[in-house]
Amino acid sequence: MIRVEHLVKRYGTNYALDDISFEIKEGEIVGLLGPNGAGKSTTMNILTGYLSTTAGAAYINNVNILDDPIGAKKFIGFLPEQPPVYPDMTVMEYLNFVYELKGCTLEREAHLNEILSVVRIVDVKDRLIKNLSKGYKQRVGIAQALVGDPKIIIFDEPTVGLDPKQILEIRTLMRTLGKNHTVILSTHILAEVQAVCERIIIINKGKIIADERTENLTKTIEDGYRYQAKICGPQKEVKAAIEKLNGVKEVEATGERDGDSFAFRIESERGIDVRKPLFNLCSRMGWPIVGLMPVGTDLESIFIRLVDRDNGVVENSVKRRRAH
Ligand code: ADP
Ligand code: MG
Repeated sequence: MIRVEHLVKRYGTNYALDDISFEIKEGEIVGLLGPNGAGKSTTMNILTGYLSTTAGAAYINNVNILDDPIGAKKFIGFLPEQPPVYPDMTVMEYLNFVYELKGCTLEREAHLNEILSVVRIVDVKDRLIKNLSKGYKQRVGIAQALVGDPKIIIFDEPTVGLDPKQILEIRTLMRTLGKNHTVILSTHILAEVQAVCERIIIINKGKIIADERTENLTKTIEDGYRYQAKICGPQKEVKAAIEKLNGVKEVEATGERDGDSFAFRIESERGIDVRKPLFNLCSRMGWPIVGLMPVGTDLESIFIRLVDRDNGVVENSVKRRRAH
């Protein structure tokens, strides 16, 4: 359905995209994950025909987007990073405008009403867009993308700037749309792609560093998991006792103190969850655990691990790097 071959986009001497290739099949929900500046928007703008390429090509249904941008755009609904809404129109006026612009032939009233209800903006349909909250504006942006019932929906950072409740609502909406559309969504939030997408493409500095099913990636991330624990007890003894636990590979007393607790960084062997044995140990010894948090699940740590994994280095890579 979508095929991207060796895409390169250069701005001056800076490579925004440096040889990106991937393929997306009909019905997939794919997340494009990467930090700011990774090249997510550039990729999406090329896919949707808004930006030319320096080299390489993108195909929608085997049609080169640059050869037939209008034909390709018919298959795509796009929510750009800055939603293209007109503040002085009401929601309904705007959707009618988009309907005309796209040359839509579906039965107008039924189609627009269905969109209003899918994105849940029926109650604001006669309000001026400029008077809507950020969350509602974003929904109007999504509604605009759905006009014409495109098979492919592309969302660039759809939850940026929304509050937690709105974020959950938009995620639910994206999952719903994913049931009968091909969806590509970009984000810099790992939890977002984990919640919504079945496949994750990670891009960093214009290159793809991982492209796999969400569950496999999550496994990779959680393999050899690290925790930060705050435990009230004598630092040396606590450290020594945790080190003896089955499955614990390494314990580091970080020296951080919080009241009468000490912080420890605990790394376990692949696939072993040491949280319960840790709890049992501390409970037996009368050392209250006042904090237990996974560490190293931030994007940066994951990037380091994925890049190292590709280079064949897995064990202790983060630690060694820190020591350098
Ligand atoms: P993301 O969406 O992942 O945050 P972008 O695709 O917007 O990343 O940007 C990728 C890189 O290309 C960044 O380094 C950015 O500064 C650069 N870039 C994007 N647009 C332009 C432009 N119009 N002119 C020059 N550099 C640009
Ligand atoms: Mg962007």
